[in-house]
Amino acid sequence: MEFDFDLFVIGGGSGGVRAARVAAGGGAKVGLAEESRMGGTCVIRGCVPKKLMVFASSYTGAMSEAEDYGWEVSMGDFDWTKFSTRLNGELDRLEGIYQNLLKNSGVEAFLSRATVVDAHTVALADGTKKTAKHILIATGGRPVRPNESFDTNLAMVSDDIFHMDALPKSMLIVGGGFIACEFACIMHGLGVDVTLFYRGDQILRGFDDEARGLIADMMKARGIDLRVGTNVEDMQKADGGVQVKATDGTEALFEKVLYATGRAPNTDGLGLENVDVELGRGGAITVDEYSQTGQPSIYAIGDVTNRVNLTPVAIREGMAFVETVFNGNPTPVDHDLIPAAVFTQPELGTVGMSEEEASKAGPVDIYSTSFKPMQQSFIGREDRVLMKLVVCKNTDVVLGCHIVAPAAGEMIQLAGIAVKMKATKAQFDQVCAVHPTMSEELVTMKAPVRSA
Ligand code: FAD
Repeated sequence: MEFDFDLFVIGGGSGGVRAARVAAGGGAKVGLAEESRMGGTCVIRGCVPKKLMVFASSYTGAMSEAEDYGWEVSMGDFDWTKFSTRLNGELDRLEGIYQNLLKNSGVEAFLSRATVVDAHTVALADGTKKTAKHILIATGGRPVRPNESFDTNLAMVSDDIFHMDALPKSMLIVGGGFIACEFACIMHGLGVDVTLFYRGDQILRGFDDEARGLIADMMKARGIDLRVGTNVEDMQKADGGVQVKATDGTEALFEKVLYATGRAPNTDGLGLENVDVELGRGGAITVDEYSQTGQPSIYAIGDVTNRVNLTPVAIREGMAFVETVFNGNPTPVDHDLIPAAVFTQPELGTVGMSEEEASKAGPVDIYSTSFKPMQQSFIGREDRVLMKLVVCKNTDVVLGCHIVAPAAGEMIQLAGIAVKMKATKAQFDQVCAVHPTMSEELVTMKAPVRSA
């Protein structure tokens, strides 16, 4: 049977673009449809604009520390318009790069929504149909508001943050995951009065307890009104913002409210009922280790499969798909020991098992130290950092590494190599310390602080 394309990709985000251009680079005839902006969540409304906001927000702390170091600093207000104009320019530039990458590798790009018609056919928004030997669904996810008795549309979601006309004076952030915590720190750093409600008993569920505890303490110490065990009971539009009644009995007016309580895979209205593609929890596409769905010609990668929702993972899944389908080399995706960062202030860098997770699996030794870093301790700050290793008692293998510190994201990328190589604690200790640094503690912790 003749097809229009060897591969048709639905979704021009991190995973889709990578798979499309690598397949095309290898000689396949590839089409790709993107309904919004090329680059997807990471480039347009996720990692990239968020990290630029992290940078912008970090100068308040740096300037105040500089003052205590002896600099004369005059700190004015943050000019949101100046920043967001530059930010939009940068996102346009990156979107252009993504468009060119596709063009230069010979991918035919359609700026259109696409839906699945049958195992080998997709339909574009204008009704035209394209056939392909393989279809790759890489439609990502979107932020969702919870179902409540009040109008949650009064609140923003993370996509809206980047389009604010002005910086609000006050903001309530609802949620305790990494997106909620990162935006709480960003907004606080930009000078916004931030309150965070999280209904659970501690933010950053799933991460190492000691690390999340320290981050919560540091966020509070910096002036974020962090309230766990608290949710929104009611919200109403009011003069100057949104009037919010909380489950802890308090009531307050916030200029803006942000819901960062969850994301959903983009499978609604995708035509998947026409094919043998199964949806799992929350509407995520069910795939096997090769990212293949129940319909042999259809594969799915990235956030739409809700495996590990991170950009480098979507990219690796895209590469493994091309290797499997176009290079005749079946390549399962390795989701084990993925290093990750949470860009709070201070940051969290993490790889492998938390103490809680590891101690359920077997006996572990915990090497952990929390201390005032030299740079801040010199000027009398109470900031603390954490360096922690979770070590298997039987094999001495380092099962997890958790760092709470400025630039922990950079540190964990490197520590992640050793953990992925299954280095033992003895091998960590064979490495000479780099002095004076915070991370030297990772190779100088002599005795476990506890066993679990
Ligand atoms: P996406 O990048 O979401 O791309 C999917 C694309 O498909 C979108 O462009 C969408 O418009 C398009 N699409 C959807 N349906 C259709 C259709 N029917 N037809 C045509 N096009 C369609 N990850 C990190 O690794 N580090 C971070 O610091 C980080 N920070 C984040 C911060 C925020 C605020 C958010 C929201 C996410 C963050 N992530 C981060 C996660 C990361 O952005 C995602 O894991 C990654 O973008 C997933 O890539 P993807 O290719 O699966 O989907």
